[in-house]
Amino acid sequence: MAGRIRLYLGDLTEQAVDAIVNAANASLLGGGGVDGAIHRRGGPAILEACRQIRRTRWPEGLPTGEAVITIAGQLTAGFVIHTVGPIYGEHGGKEAQLLANCYRNALLLANQHALASIAFPAISTGVYGYPANEAAEIVSQTLQESLQRDTSISEVRLVFFAQHDLDTFLQHQKFTG
Ligand code: ADP
Repeated sequence: MAGRIRLYLGDLTEQAVDAIVNAANASLLGGGGVDGAIHRRGGPAILEACRQIRRTRWPEGLPTGEAVITIAGQLTAGFVIHTVGPIYGEHGGKEAQLLANCYRNALLLANQHALASIAFPAISTGVYGYPANEAAEIVSQTLQESLQRDTSISEVRLVFFAQHDLDTFLQHQKFTG
């Protein structure tokens, strides 16, 4: 189970996987950080697909913890799964649950599309201010639980932008078995 999870150092947008996960914002219309990088490298087709989702499914924006899937434009990955992480300190103590929802819902969506490989950034740990050590505990526990269920996913990559973030994850992860 934890054997299906691999840690990477590098750029999420270069991952050759079935889906990469975008740490989007509620607007789905692009932002900074990893979101900006995905839209820059993937091209305008992703933004158009996001606009379509806003028009048809989420006119008020994507709620925190939910996930949607789009094409990946010019990216190497096959799809982009967009999810909105919690802003640390702004959800009245529900931050951990909402961060877990991001990972859980992205994996459920990947399974619905029969995808085998998926790569995540460290959702919410940038501009949204989630402490990397706390995120590591939640993410490792959530992934372990999710992969215990019947799923098409055979590989989960956690892609860190900086060595320090990868080290923090390793120090604080709660994988068992
Ligand atoms: P959020 O708003 O959810 O905090 P950010 O994009 O600000 O999202 O940051 C999330 C994490 O993604 C941070 O750890 C940041 O360093 C990292 N990051 C930024 N750009 C990339 C990238 N191209 N590939 C992988 N990780 C990235």
